[in-house]
Amino acid sequence: MSIKDLKENLAYSCNILANEGHWDNILGHVTVRIPGTNKALMKPHGFGFEEIRPQHIITVDIETGKKIEGKYERHSEVFIHTEILKARPDVNSVVHTHPPYAIVIGALGKPLRPISHEGVIFHDGLPIFDYTTALIRTPELGAEVAKSLGQARGVLMKNHGSSVVGESVEIATLYAVFLEKACRIQLLATASGEPSWTSDEEAALKYEQIYPPFRQKSMWEYFVRRAHKARK
Ligand SMILES: [Zn+2]
Repeated sequence: MSIKDLKENLAYSCNILANEGHWDNILGHVTVRIPGTNKALMKPHGFGFEEIRPQHIITVDIETGKKIEGKYERHSEVFIHTEILKARPDVNSVVHTHPPYAIVIGALGKPLRPISHEGVIFHDGLPIFDYTTALIRTPELGAEVAKSLGQARGVLMKNHGSSVVGESVEIATLYAVFLEKACRIQLLATASGEPSWTSDEEAALKYEQIYPPFRQKSMWEYFVRRAHKARK
C-alpha cells in the first residue's frame, strides 16, 4: 500500500473513532507502520479525531519516537506506539484512546467477558496495564505498556484508556470500536443482573464466524462510508 493510501486510511481511522465512541477532545492517537521501514505515520496533536485529513498526518521514527516529517506537533505519548511496534513485528497499527466504557472496566479491574459478539475478539485475553495511570511520555513507560499487552489484541490502561493493535490500521480501528461496545454491553449487563457469557471454546468458533478477513473488509468499508458522509 502506498504512503498516500496509508494516510487516507489513517485519516479515516481517526474520523471513524470520532464517530464510534472514541472521541475525546483533541486527545487520542493512531499510528500505522510504513511497511519495510522504521517509520510510522501518526495523527498529530492539536486536532480532534473528526478533523483529521491526510494532509495533517506526521511521520515519526519508531526507534526514537522523534518526528521526522509533517507540519503539526507530535503527541507526547508516541512511546505507546513506538514500543509496541518494536515489540510486536506482527502489529502494524496502534490505536490509543480514552473511551469511557473501557476506562470503567479497567478501573473496576474486571475481566472482559464475551457477553456480546464483540467480546469474542478479546476472549484470548485483555490485560490491564497498572504500572502507572499517568501519561506514557518515555520509552521506558512505553515498553511497560508493550510488556502488559504481550501477545493480546488490546490492553486496558487503568484510569487512563486503552490501546488496541492490529496487523493493519483497518483492523486496529475496528477492534478498538468493538472493544468499547463490548465494555458498554458488559457494564449494562452487570448493572442489570448476572449475565451469561459465551464459553472459551464457542468464543473461538464465533470469532472465526463473525470476523473473517472478507467481513472485516466490508465492516471497514461501511465505517469509511459513514465517516465520509459525516465529513460533509
Ligand atoms: Zn492517553
